[in-house]
Amino acid sequence: MTDPRIPDREIVIVGAGFSGIGTLIALKKAGFNDVLALDDASGPGGVWHWNTYPGVAVDIPSFSYQFSYEKRPNWSRTYAKGRELKGYAQHLVAKYDLAQHIRYNTSVISAHFDETANLWRIETSAGPVSARHVIHAGGPLSRPKRPDIEGLDSFAGPTMHTARWDHRIDLRGKRVAIIGTGASAVQIIPEIAPQVAKLTVFQRTPIWCMPKFDAPIPGPARWALKRVPGVEAVASLASDAFVEATFPILAHYHKLIPGTSVLETAGRRYIKQQVKDPALAEKLTPKYALGCKRPSFHNSYLQTFNRSNVALETGSITRISENAVHTADGVAHEVDVLILATGFKVTEKDAIPTYDLTGRGGLVLGDWWEENRLQAYQGVSSPGFPNFFTIMGPYGYNGSSFFALIENSSAHIVRCLDHARRQNADLIEVTEKAHVDYHAEMMRRRGNQIFWQESCGLANSYYFDKHGDVPLRPSLTIEAAWRSRHFPLKDYTFRKVA
Ligand SMILES: Cc1cc2nc3c(=O)[nH]c(=O)nc-3n(C[C@H](O)[C@H](O)[C@H](O)COP(=O)(O)OP(=O)(O)OC[C@H]3O[C@@H](n4cnc5c(N)ncnc54)[C@H](O)[C@@H]3O)c2cc1C
Repeated sequence: MTDPRIPDREIVIVGAGFSGIGTLIALKKAGFNDVLALDDASGPGGVWHWNTYPGVAVDIPSFSYQFSYEKRPNWSRTYAKGRELKGYAQHLVAKYDLAQHIRYNTSVISAHFDETANLWRIETSAGPVSARHVIHAGGPLSRPKRPDIEGLDSFAGPTMHTARWDHRIDLRGKRVAIIGTGASAVQIIPEIAPQVAKLTVFQRTPIWCMPKFDAPIPGPARWALKRVPGVEAVASLASDAFVEATFPILAHYHKLIPGTSVLETAGRRYIKQQVKDPALAEKLTPKYALGCKRPSFHNSYLQTFNRSNVALETGSITRISENAVHTADGVAHEVDVLILATGFKVTEKDAIPTYDLTGRGGLVLGDWWEENRLQAYQGVSSPGFPNFFTIMGPYGYNGSSFFALIENSSAHIVRCLDHARRQNADLIEVTEKAHVDYHAEMMRRRGNQIFWQESCGLANSYYFDKHGDVPLRPSLTIEAAWRSRHFPLKDYTFRKVA
């Protein structure tokens, strides 16, 4: 009989998107090999596995959307398409020999900390597994949100969420409705509009949509990126500087560097240039300040509304019937196919983490966060949840490239695990003091952020949780990188228990 105090695995990671992959690589590099990643997808890549809708692509330059230690010299465009990101994930799995560490088609249902055995007991769709440590890499945008609209299930035609695109549905010649105008809708609308008979776009809140320098990278440039010393480094540096300037600097230091008003004026002008009908342009112009929610970047989204087969509907949806979307003005918009571009659960209790996680003394992380507001030490750990870490916890991500976050959080976690190994400790827990101090610092520093303008209340932004907090880290990427690697080790307790 196996000893129930001995875990099946030293480390279990939930998720095999780029966070899970990057963490696996970091752990293997540090000599941790007894690691298993569980993912409910059938392959690697997370959002790039699940999101296959027409036009899916990154919205930051590809040079910044990759690991610093594994630069891909042959991106086909400045903003790569989804299938290239999926290919990059597959490349990482093959190159770093990760397949043996990943179990696909496996949902994590719950995890609870067994204090007597000092390990996590995890329930999965494929049976139980235990681990000394759990790392949550389940992603911020992995749980599609269905809108709460009366009659949605009574719609007789095909319905699909953007993150679960059904390629068997032929949209050609159909009357299609798309509900939502967030980042995914911005990419889908220009792609499907030329194919469909009629496209009705149901908009609750307009999105700031800016042009982007999206172009194919010609063969000679790709050759230079690969072969000429320094070319890739310069491209990456320029791209990182652009990303840093357009989000962390403008968002977190808004009161000190109020640069968004210039961009907002340019954004308004751009809408007027792109959309011929002034009344339509007005409807597509946000009433909230640029930055209250993540803006989108696309070169033909706004123009698409000039097409005669595209209609913008801004009245609120009252219900959905067998064949129509009904709006408050009493109109029934008859449609054949319904596309839900309604985003993801982000800060909801069942999304962060994506399963019930019970720590010391029966404390449920989701409940604790609901009651005490979202908080985590450097976005990575919380007291009461020993041997548990997150890649993207509250106040960890500053909004720059997600890859910077993954490298930072995994460096933080590896530093803890490595120290525990050297101390022969098997229990790691952040101290109450370090946790409280960090949260107080976040609260103090957030005053300069862009999110506290009055008009942000009109943005319907997923940045805001139910407490009205924006759990983004008010810091530059370089500071986050430094602190992940140099936090005082006394911020954690390391003990031998089992
Ligand atoms: C369409 C789209 C475009 C994006 N574009 C950008 C961009 O341009 N720039 C940028 O910085 N960010 C972008 N993002 C944000 C994106 O979420 C991150 O960049 C990054 O890919 C997240 O990686 P991840 O591994 O943390 O999460 P994910 O990629 O979401 O991977 C998490 C994986 O864990 C699985 N999982 C979750 N919970 C469980 C569970 N309980 N059991 C088993 N498996 C589970 C999920 O199914 C998923 O496969 C985009 C997101 C989307 C949806």
